[in-house]
Amino acid sequence: MADIAMVGLGAMGAPMARNLLAAGHALKVYDVVDTAMDGLLAAGARAATPHDVARDVDAVITMLRTGAVVEEVLTGDTSLFASARRGTLFIDSSTIDVASARRLSARAHAAGMSMVDAPVSGGVPGAEAGTLTFMVGGDPPAVDSARPILEAMGRSIVHVGPPGNGQAAKICNNMILGISMIAVAEAFRLAGRLGVDAQTLQQIVTRSSGDCWVVHHNHPLPDLAPGSASDDGYRPGFSSALMLKDLQLGQQAARECGACTPLGARAAALYERFVNEGSADLDFGAIIRQIDSGES
Ligand code: NAD
Repeated sequence: MADIAMVGLGAMGAPMARNLLAAGHALKVYDVVDTAMDGLLAAGARAATPHDVARDVDAVITMLRTGAVVEEVLTGDTSLFASARRGTLFIDSSTIDVASARRLSARAHAAGMSMVDAPVSGGVPGAEAGTLTFMVGGDPPAVDSARPILEAMGRSIVHVGPPGNGQAAKICNNMILGISMIAVAEAFRLAGRLGVDAQTLQQIVTRSSGDCWVVHHNHPLPDLAPGSASDDGYRPGFSSALMLKDLQLGQQAARECGACTPLGARAAALYERFVNEGSADLDFGAIIRQIDSGES
């Protein structure tokens, strides 16, 4: 069992940390919000500060919102890279831009440490159940070291390639997700206008070529797929703000490598407008309201 530090105990980080404890790992935790640590301290984790959280551990996991926060935590005023011993493995499970992931990995390597980017799919339910999919970018020895730790939190650990490639896979997956959410919302609204009952269309789509993850797990319309945020007033789930962030990361990566992603660009623009109009904290399935407004 390893000595692990976990930084960032929000919607995803807290349940991931609980699974590390349940697997028998020794765990130090830190979050800027003190109360975010309470549940984990009760479960057996040790409280740490930014100054000592990365000290004398085998691995440091970060689960933070954005690349800017990850960069600040790892390399800023109370740099975790500076306080960690040589040989420490850094695992960043946040969803961040590919270029930052590659830059941070190179800095860790230069300081005698190793780093993998290991963003996740599966959301809060997957984090709670320990069934996340990890998309891992890193050198093979670092990925091998990370694997037993990731296995305590996930069911599927996929080595995508060198540093940054985990993030690349993640933003491509979420570009599909964002576009398919909009596609399902549009199609169900069109069907309604054409006089096709939503339950009937659902039966057809789930057995036809329009089938996709959204119609089974997070339907934009209520009462069609159990567990969807639409059944709960669009309480996230996965917020529209996070979907916008991921779509924008996709657009940034596409610009940097010259890829053509017209639907990704359109999806990002739709979510940007939706978020700017005050819907940042609604589940991303609520985008159907934007379509309803006729301003899409
Ligand atoms: P969150 O906002 O719930 O949690 C982030 C945590 O980081 C908060 O507790 C915050 O207090 C803490 N934090 C902020 N700055 C800090 C600092 N300087 N030092 C220590 N702690 C700090 O976010 P989340 O939903 O847990 O998402 C985390 C990452 O996982 C994001 O990159 C997100 O895109 C990705 N992700 C989220 C989901 C989801 O369903 N929520 C699914 C897949 C991936």
